Amino acid sequence: MTESTSKPSALFQNYGRADVSFVRGKGVYLYDTQGRVYLDAFAGVAVSTLGHGHAGLTQAISTQAANLLHCSNYYTVPQQEDLARTLVHAAFPGRVLFCNSGTEANEAAYKLLRLWGNLQHGGRKTRIISFLNGFHGRTMGSLSVTANPKYREPFAPLAPCEFLPYGDLPALEAAFAKGDDKGDDIAGVFIEPIQGEGGVIVPPAGFLKRLRELCTAHQALLVMDEIQTGFARTGKLFCHQHEGVVPDMMTMAKGLGGGVPIGAILAIEAVASLMKPGMHGTTFGGNPLACAAGLAVMNEVVQPHFIANIVARGEQLKAGLITLMGGDASQVRGRGLLVGVQLTYDPGMLVQAAREEGLIVGPSGNQTLRIAPPLVINAAQIDELLTKLAAAIKRV
Ligand SMILES: *Cc1c(COP(=O)(O)O)cnc(C)c1O
Repeated sequence: MTESTSKPSALFQNYGRADVSFVRGKGVYLYDTQGRVYLDAFAGVAVSTLGHGHAGLTQAISTQAANLLHCSNYYTVPQQEDLARTLVHAAFPGRVLFCNSGTEANEAAYKLLRLWGNLQHGGRKTRIISFLNGFHGRTMGSLSVTANPKYREPFAPLAPCEFLPYGDLPALEAAFAKGDDKGDDIAGVFIEPIQGEGGVIVPPAGFLKRLRELCTAHQALLVMDEIQTGFARTGKLFCHQHEGVVPDMMTMAKGLGGGVPIGAILAIEAVASLMKPGMHGTTFGGNPLACAAGLAVMNEVVQPHFIANIVARGEQLKAGLITLMGGDASQVRGRGLLVGVQLTYDPGMLVQAAREEGLIVGPSGNQTLRIAPPLVINAAQIDELLTKLAAAIKRV
């Protein structure tokens, strides 16, 4: 027991924490207070994009910290302009608003849907749609579009939202045909291109495309939550690019800063222009330190060799996991280096057994193991991951 855990905790008890503390990391490896080494195949919930102790990211942060940490959004912040241009170039034309977390990005998206309904459509667009099993964050607006009753019910009443089954085309068509307005009263739709917290669920081919068509036909805004799936994690810079669709808004956080807190929203001009000076803002959002980190991460992930590694390692990982699962490919889901393994029991047991084998993995939903390593993982390290996971599976 460490000094900090031997005394009663002064912290809220809102997390189920393991009694392990990491003191250092290098690449895909983490070291705890006891000097034990772990292969990190979770990246702090898909955050440590470039791994731990990355030289370029560390340099970018230290240089920026020495020059200027913060100055507020009362001034122009050149690092914001640079990172915004990089994101637009990587995704689609529009404008970027910076914030500090995923939930704040979705919160801003919810507010933009209200502006779209109120300012652009004279109050006629009030319906907001999202999907069962999805996750969009914990603040009131983002929680309102998150279906899970366990997260919602203690905090009711929430803002309005309708939930549809993920990947269910007839239900989607019906929602857009409903009521006197036949779907024209829909302000927008929140969706994850892969459900990250809900079991690593990939939508059926064509689902996002049809959603895009319906949104376009009804002037509803398509909000793509790429908070977990962005920044090349799935083998494309952004996951929706696999499906050839372009959203009207995209929310980002997690892996964008490689470990430095940052969130962002990219919106098409027609939506971004609805926010006038003073309508929305944040003290820290897009501060020079966070943007320097975001730029350092983006400059790495856009490299073709970086993305090629993710695709190759993702295939290697999936093939190895299918073998581990006795050849049943239906139990292994995901894209690139965001992979879920369907279990028949609570993933918590396997997460703990893996940790005892020196492997960090995580849960997703009730019966899925989530593997989301730093994107710099190499072939030998994928093999090591599979060996350690096999040993852990034997024990549960
Ligand atoms: C993690 C996550 C969020 C919330 O992000 P926070 O930074 O924890 O607020 C929202 N959407 C998705 C898809 C996420 O994975």
